[in-house]
Amino acid sequence: MSDKSLQCSFCGRKKEETEILIAGIDAHICDACIEQAHHIISEERKENKKAELSEALALKKPIEIKAFLDTYVIGQDKTKKVLSVAVYNHYKRLLQTNDDNEVEIQKSNILIVGQTGTGKTLVAKTIAKMLEVPLAIVDATVLTEAGYVGEDVESILTRLLQAADYDLERAQRGIVFIDEIDKIARKSDNPSITRDVSGEGVQQGLLKLLEGTTVNVPPKGGRKHPDQKFIEVDTSNILFIAGGAFDGIERHISKRLNRQSVGYSSSIESGQVDKENLLQYISPKDIKSFGLIPEIIGRLPVLSHMNPLDKDSLLSILTEPKNAIIKQYQKLFAIDDIVLEVTHDALEILVDKALEHDLGARGLRSLCEAVLTDAMYELPSKESIKQLKVDKNYVQEKLSGESAIALENLKAAS
Ligand code: ADP
Repeated sequence: MSDKSLQCSFCGRKKEETEILIAGIDAHICDACIEQAHHIISEERKENKKAELSEALALKKPIEIKAFLDTYVIGQDKTKKVLSVAVYNHYKRLLQTNDDNEVEIQKSNILIVGQTGTGKTLVAKTIAKMLEVPLAIVDATVLTEAGYVGEDVESILTRLLQAADYDLERAQRGIVFIDEIDKIARKSDNPSITRDVSGEGVQQGLLKLLEGTTVNVPPKGGRKHPDQKFIEVDTSNILFIAGGAFDGIERHISKRLNRQSVGYSSSIESGQVDKENLLQYISPKDIKSFGLIPEIIGRLPVLSHMNPLDKDSLLSILTEPKNAIIKQYQKLFAIDDIVLEVTHDALEILVDKALEHDLGARGLRSLCEAVLTDAMYELPSKESIKQLKVDKNYVQEKLSGESAIALENLKAAS
């Protein structure tokens, strides 16, 4: 066939009418048809992804979302409930088809207040796992205003893109967990924070991400510079969950409660206030007096708290969740055909130590590691030993001496 008579086998355009004509085995395709086909494919994929998501959600109503959370997260019932509803509504909003006359559903970004190690990150991780969406966990303390040393707020989206293997569609439906949001509180309202006004600058930067905007994101991270290619990320369907310990916020809560109980609008009679856990009364006003700007608070409309973990919760955390710490060690030993048994009084000592050193749930893993390291080192080479019983004495022995010093260090570091 002469070059002149070549034509696109799909649309029939002659070679000279196309920009590029690509040859296949028995056919040719022109640039216009490739573009059109590409468009059809990406539309189809979008529809498929929507269908996938609606399938996932159709299976999971708030009650089921909470039930899923229950298998991983101990206690924290109120937050799990609030979160299940928020997540359900967020993804329902995502599935609605945009009709101009329709009521537009606002985003339900979430703010969780609670001491470190109470499960804030865990709930975000669990929700991402359930929905099979990418999750980026970022620390607000490393963020700075553009131009300062540190990371730009856009780096959050770089992380999300990486978590989504650079699949933009997936990233745009993902979840971002911003840890330590309290550390970027404004200094003036909160004398304990030593950061300067850049905290407020970061809050301003975060604002636009939270409310939904299109951001040019450097795919490999780092500072923006003119030669770098950007990926345009639309944040309107990304769910943001922010978490922080908000140390000392109880003072703000109790001040507000006192004021309220004097006024006629008191909803909580002063006598009924549970002073041991003031966090349960937290309101956006307290977050504002702590130093987050009202605009940020407004864009994190779902506010919830995590309760401190008591002895019983810590005991449950060791053994009950689907990937409970003890279950993980049992699995590790089982690979070497060793049956690991940990007695109840051994678990109690571990929990007591965690409480004594103020390590919370985070410390449980380090404690288990300290107790089991010797066994994990020696037993795989001892063919004859197929069982390990960890009781009270075993724990006490392993946590004395060197490990005790290590524990002190751990406490200092946390
Ligand atoms: P936070 O984000 O509140 O500082 P994390 O979610 O990172 O705390 O918790 C640290 C670890 O402690 C988790 O990986 C988990 O093993 C354990 N943990 C904490 N809280 C809970 C909980 N409520 N239920 C089950 N495990 C928990």
